[in-house]
Amino acid sequence: MTRSISIFGATGSIGQSTIDLIKRDQKSYNVVALTGGRNIEQLAKDAIDLNADVAVTSEENLLGALLAALAGSGVEVSAGRNAILEAADRPVDWSMSAIFGAAGLEPGLRALRHGTTLALANKESLVTAGDLLLGEAKKCGAKILPVDSEHSAIFQALIGEDIATVERIIITASGGAFRDWPLHRIATATPEQAATHPNWDMGQRITIDSASMFNKALEVIETKEFFGVHPSQIEVLVHPQSLVHALVGFNDGALMAHVGPPDMRHAIGFALHWPDRRKLPVDRLDLAAIGQLDFKAPEDSRYPALKLAQFVMERGGLAGSVFNAAKEKALDAFIERKIGFLDMTSLVEDVLNQLVSKDGLNKDAMTLDTVANADQMARKYGQELIAQGRYGSN
Ligand code: NDP
Ligand code: MG
Repeated sequence: MTRSISIFGATGSIGQSTIDLIKRDQKSYNVVALTGGRNIEQLAKDAIDLNADVAVTSEENLLGALLAALAGSGVEVSAGRNAILEAADRPVDWSMSAIFGAAGLEPGLRALRHGTTLALANKESLVTAGDLLLGEAKKCGAKILPVDSEHSAIFQALIGEDIATVERIIITASGGAFRDWPLHRIATATPEQAATHPNWDMGQRITIDSASMFNKALEVIETKEFFGVHPSQIEVLVHPQSLVHALVGFNDGALMAHVGPPDMRHAIGFALHWPDRRKLPVDRLDLAAIGQLDFKAPEDSRYPALKLAQFVMERGGLAGSVFNAAKEKALDAFIERKIGFLDMTSLVEDVLNQLVSKDGLNKDAMTLDTVANADQMARKYGQELIAQGRYGSN
């Protein structure tokens, strides 16, 4: 039986790993929509290879380029944000939400309305609008499966278990590019240095977010939202080998760990085949050759972003949207060399203090509009702070 699928963010790191799995067993899938952004060549190639119904770029000014690349192929072409939402309205059995950032929220929400399965790599959806996303899934009878490796690991450790018996959830972090750097050097780190990950081969932005631990801060919030546990039950451990992805601690003292190679095709493949397990083209671990697994507590001074996650969870509501948007703004500014590496945390903290601390935005109920408004206000205020020259540059 063939399954119909759509991939949002098909040209990115997660999208390409998903396509790798699909291409290995193409006859089992009917590809409806593939969406991308600026990488028209890749989008067109995959749309042809997978015989997709429609290929969509988020960039309206690239419509002509996509039309030219797909001329005569029979693949429908469209462009712009609304075109992505319309693609999400096409019914499918399974969709992958792998657009980067807050832009991934609405396509994911729309895809949920088919009442089928949404594989969720876009952690920002849960961080910015967890209540909306989970509420919509419940209303429409859809299933959300986590694709983030830690959350897939937790999900797998919980199969057959009662969440009420969970005492704690531990997610691991590689520690990123600077885990062994002397603290005084980190302030001078460049985007190129931050974009080198010791273990995982990922997109540039998430790799920099790993070095700053903003990625882990988002994942802590994602854990709270997805599994409904109290923030005090979530711990982060630095684990340089990135082989244990998460551990779930139960009330009898047992810890169930998920161990596997650092290859996103495991978590993607698990979500693709769930509730079955199927053979996946990932390395099998030789633990005797690996010999040793190390763990240590994250140092606050090295990873200040982690404590911001606690603040965001305490506040709840729209704090997640402000946090994520300020983080995206800070990341852009760092990549453009307008602010330094550690300034990213200062900027996000300043934006949170201004917009969330005094209740401010947080008294608004959560809707798509209030989430988007919080996002815009955070970016605008972040931009003002950067323009004031409050932070250094490198
Ligand atoms: P990439 O940056 O590699 O890819 C992002 C994708 O989204 C690309 O297809 C890109 O198009 C597209 N895109 C970018 N901006 C927009 C926009 N405004 N509207 C529509 N599409 C857009 O990201 P990753 O694959 O690394 O990450 C995707 C998501 O998965 C993120 O939420 C990330 O946190 C999460 N994730 C990623 C992991 C990884 O290993 N990479 C691990 C766990 C979670 P184009 O490239 O053509 O411009
Ligand atoms: Mg992760």
